[in-house]
Amino acid sequence: MPTHSSEIHESYPCQKCQGGRKHRQTITLMTWLGDDLITVPDFPAWICDLCGHRLYDSHALAQLSLLLNPDVGTPIQHRLINDRKKPTANYPPLA
Ligand SMILES: [Zn+2]
Repeated sequence: MPTHSSEIHESYPCQKCQGGRKHRQTITLMTWLGDDLITVPDFPAWICDLCGHRLYDSHALAQLSLLLNPDVGTPIQHRLINDRKKPTANYPPLA
């Protein structure tokens, strides 16, 4: 690959404040996956230099959701297995 695009600093007008520009930066993404809070360091995001509004990079977000969601592309029948794994031993016995 002779040309690398790392020198191109993309930015675009902020739709939130209309005055600032958004630049691509990397931040730590925090999101809930079911009951688990997961953090993804160095996640690409667009951050406004004026109002600070941030928007996670949609392309990276799409890739992340594919990584995080093993159900993507699999039939719904898969869910039946999850239901069977439901713990039942946590309930105190009725005396
Ligand atoms: Zn802004």
